Amino acid sequence: MSLRTRLTTAFLAVVLGPVLLGALVAAATVGAVASQRGTEQLDRATGAVVTSVRAMCRQLYAAASAVAIVPDADSRAAAAEQVLGAGLGSAVQVNDATGLVTLSTPQPPAQPWVACAGSDGEPAAGAAVSGGYAALAAQVELRAHSGAALGTVTVAAAVDRDFVARLAAASGAAVTQLRLDAAGGAGAGHSTEPTGARRGVLAAGERYTGDRDASTADGQRYVRRVGPGDGQPLHLLLSVPRASPAGTYAALVGVVVLTAGLAVALAAWLARNTTRPLATLAAAADRFADGDLAARVPAGGSDEVGRLAATFNRMTRETQAYVQALTASRDQLRGHLEILGDTLSSTHDLDRILRVILQTAMAATSAQAGVVLLADDGDTLLGKCGEGLATRLPEAVADGVAGLRVSPGAGVLGVVAATGVPRRGRVAGGVPALSPTEPRCRSYVAVPFALRATVGDEAAGAAPARRTAGLLAVYDRLGAEEFDDADLSTLRTFAGQAAVAVDNVRAHEEAHRLSLTDPLTGLWNYRYLQEAAHREVERATRFDRTLTALALDIDRFKRINDTYGHRAGDAVLVEFARRLRLGVREVDAVFRQGGEEFVVLLPETDRAGGEVVAQRLGALIRDTPVTVAGRTPGSAVRIPVTTSVGIAVFPAHAASTGELLDVADRALYAAKSGGRDTYRLAGAARPAVPARPRRPAGEEPAAAAAGGRGAPGEPHPATPPPGR
Ligand code: GH3
Ligand code: MG
Ligand code: MG
Repeated sequence: MSLRTRLTTAFLAVVLGPVLLGALVAAATVGAVASQRGTEQLDRATGAVVTSVRAMCRQLYAAASAVAIVPDADSRAAAAEQVLGAGLGSAVQVNDATGLVTLSTPQPPAQPWVACAGSDGEPAAGAAVSGGYAALAAQVELRAHSGAALGTVTVAAAVDRDFVARLAAASGAAVTQLRLDAAGGAGAGHSTEPTGARRGVLAAGERYTGDRDASTADGQRYVRRVGPGDGQPLHLLLSVPRASPAGTYAALVGVVVLTAGLAVALAAWLARNTTRPLATLAAAADRFADGDLAARVPAGGSDEVGRLAATFNRMTRETQAYVQALTASRDQLRGHLEILGDTLSSTHDLDRILRVILQTAMAATSAQAGVVLLADDGDTLLGKCGEGLATRLPEAVADGVAGLRVSPGAGVLGVVAATGVPRRGRVAGGVPALSPTEPRCRSYVAVPFALRATVGDEAAGAAPARRTAGLLAVYDRLGAEEFDDADLSTLRTFAGQAAVAVDNVRAHEEAHRLSLTDPLTGLWNYRYLQEAAHREVERATRFDRTLTALALDIDRFKRINDTYGHRAGDAVLVEFARRLRLGVREVDAVFRQGGEEFVVLLPETDRAGGEVVAQRLGALIRDTPVTVAGRTPGSAVRIPVTTSVGIAVFPAHAASTGELLDVADRALYAAKSGGRDTYRLAGAARPAVPARPRRPAGEEPAAAAAGGRGAPGEPHPATPPPGR
């Protein structure tokens, strides 16, 4: 049942109930009033009837007395005639003392006569007469002067149709003469009752008990039995018409129907008006539930429904705004994730990858700031990249994120680094304590990440324990007091990404390094030589500087191999490479071109500088024989080694990278031809004069055994530079 139906019903119950009750009360009142009016009418009619009958009796008595006063019988007959003539009675009868009729007027009414009784003509109380009667009579004693009883004089008046009609006219009620039979049943004598109503009135008269007036079965008349005994001797039935309430009832019904109709209309109107805003609200709520976040209801009044509508509108408005904000932040996050995906798959720039991971993690956790730290070779974690840290870095940290240093155990980040357990929480009132070198914040999440143990670590038997390789931390959640567990787990995901990224980049760097280095000596290989030489030539060109290339070749190396074996040869190569590295500056680069041939690039170096380095390197090699393991276990041999060097200077001797290396090579061959253990400058007209220091006794230089000088090229005096 709808609310509207229920409201209508309730309104109807409230309105119609009293109306119907009122109608019932009114109907009852009308009935009671009608009944009372009937009783009053009957009271008045009864009084009138009794009075009339009494008056008649007194009249009859007076007439009888007048006849009785007449002394002789003849005069008495005349008096009787006069009585009849005056209309004082309808019959006069004289009886003697024995009861014999001595005088009787002609055509007396039929017997029995009902006596008015009483000496004064007052009817006798309780003088009940049964059966029918045709006349009302008054009797007076006839006495002699002596007082002796001579008989009686009776004057009667006929109780006929006229008599009853007179009573009816006097009383204003319909009058019926009752004839009681011996069994107590009542029959009707003369009556002024309309013929049709007579039977019903008679039946009501039979039911009459004396307590209250009876009414006819059709309710149209009130009926009362009168006498005998109520001051008159007649047995009568009076009836008055019921004061017809039919009109009243009709009016009443009309009012009720009208009121009911109005009530129904009013109830329907009220119910509709009351439920319409609710129906509108329900429809809007339905639309809202179906996903229409723009669903609104028209602003109502200030009543409860109006307030509900206003609240509904506010709720939908806020939900819509909230969803829009969520959508925006989802889109933003999606954008970040796309960038993250692109970055992870397309670059090996660790700084950039970490920055994107950090930005994405911050977007995903609504953080205002964040930092990524990576462990250095020790246990200390160093700031790698940061966002939103400007106001959060403590004064102790001088040069931005790069200045962040976290020692294990110190402050929040230090504890996370030391334990390897992620933490989240709030910083309030100095708890938990922050270390003086970590960012200030109100709330934080910090997640550590570890790296894969490298192959080398495992081979070296390094503990497989995954030490904290880095930390990802975000600070100060936007729109919330602190980060929750969901944020923590999100950050863990990103920390995992960071770990993988660092791993990948490092692996890539390692692979790259391996592809460019020589595994035996650890020097850059031929491939990288091409690249580096090209770069250096470019730079020298752009900045208008000189670049010197040295080509080195170990003298008589084949012989070393042959004499001491390949392993010893390898060891010599390794030591040779080490000494080359030692003998040059940080900015210089040393390459193994292949076999026992090496190249050194000396940026910002001219011919003189190149010669100085060539001499220094020659001396470094020559001055200390290389000690290697001998063929028998535990033994060692000292192998004297020398090298020849060719020098070429850009742009003096060559216009391109390839030419520079070729020219250096040619100078090297010139040095070989010039007797080895010496250097030659490219394009030199004459071979340098080699100034060969004497070798320690007992050590035959590998080079010396080869002999064979005289190649073109000017041998330079190989003045050994101060050793390094
Ligand atoms: P020179 O340069 O003075 O003319 O004489 P050389 O004996 O050094 O000349 P050559 O180029 O003929 O010999 C180079 C030798 O170096 C040949 C090869 O056996 C050896 N060699 C090349 N690479 C390696 C290496 O990786 N390890 C060892 N042990 N020997 C190598
Ligand atoms: Mg050689
Ligand atoms: Mg060679």
